[in-house]
Formats: sequence, structure tokens, C-alpha cells
Amino acid sequence: MRDTVVSKRLALPPPFSVYFIMTEDERWMESALREAEQAKKRKEVPVGAVVVQNGRIIGKGYNQIESLQDPTAHAEMIAITAAAAGLGSRRFEGCAMYVTLEPCAMCAGAIVLARIPRLVFGAFDPKAGACGTLFNIVQDKRLNHQVELVGGISAERCGSLLSEFFAAMREKGNGGKS
Ligand SMILES: [Zn+2]
Repeated sequence: MRDTVVSKRLALPPPFSVYFIMTEDERWMESALREAEQAKKRKEVPVGAVVVQNGRIIGKGYNQIESLQDPTAHAEMIAITAAAAGLGSRRFEGCAMYVTLEPCAMCAGAIVLARIPRLVFGAFDPKAGACGTLFNIVQDKRLNHQVELVGGISAERCGSLLSEFFAAMREKGNGGKS
């Protein structure tokens, strides 16, 4: 079977077992996706984030704008606050953030302030993305920290979680009329 990692996602019956390599980034993105599922359960826009250091999660969060009635309660902000509390430090040495959606301007700013060395996001955000789409705050050379950036990891799954959520919301909004 060579050096492949079995994915939990494709549980096909034998003889159709499918093996493919899941990269480390994809595996951490799975953790961020689990956070996004938590948001979905609470009828929040499903975005999730984790902060990883030395192979373990030191902070995680999911979007809680509605439950907290706080426009800043994005997954990334919650994950950064949790990680800083866990570390007992505002310094994020050797850390990477994984988030299912391209961060907005606020979160990209927070990532720069936290000096997070590496950012990996899933789906691109054409409406608010500030890590390459509308702006690229995390790599702006005028700021005093630049972030190593990888976008589009597990983008299809991260994006479909969002589009399915909005489709369901629209359907609900239309409830009874159809
Ligand atoms: Zn944000």
C-alpha cells in the first residue's frame, strides 16, 4: 500500500477501498472543519479555526457572532485568544493557524499582531478575504510581520459547508411560501 494515509472520509466497501495521501495541512484542516461543524450546529455561519504548535492544538474556535451578539467573535479571534491564554503569552512562536475560510481584514490584522508565523486557510472568500483576495494584509511588507501563507487547502469541503449552510438558510427564509 506504499506510504499512504487512509482517509476516514472515503469509507468505501472492499474491494473499492481508496487510499490517498493526506498532507499534514489537510489533517489539521480536518480539526478546523470540526470546529466549523460546531458553529453549524449552533446555526452560526460555519467557520472554524485551530492554532497548532509542536504538533498539537493550543487554541481553537468557531464563529459565534450570533450567540455572543458580537461582530468580532470570528473563529480566528476566539482561537487566538484561547491560544494566548493557554500559552500564557502573546507570542506565537512556531505556531500555525488553520482556518476553513480566508480571514477577513480584522482577523488578518489580528494574525499579524499575534505574529503567527504560518497561516493555512481553506476556501477563498471573494467578499471579504484579506489574505490574497481583496487585500493581502498578512503579507504586506509595510507591516512589521509577514506570514507564510497557504490558501485553498481542502477548499471544496470548507466551501461546501458554507454554501450548504446559506442554501439551507435561504430555504428556511422561504419556508411555507413554496
Ligand atoms: Zn474575521
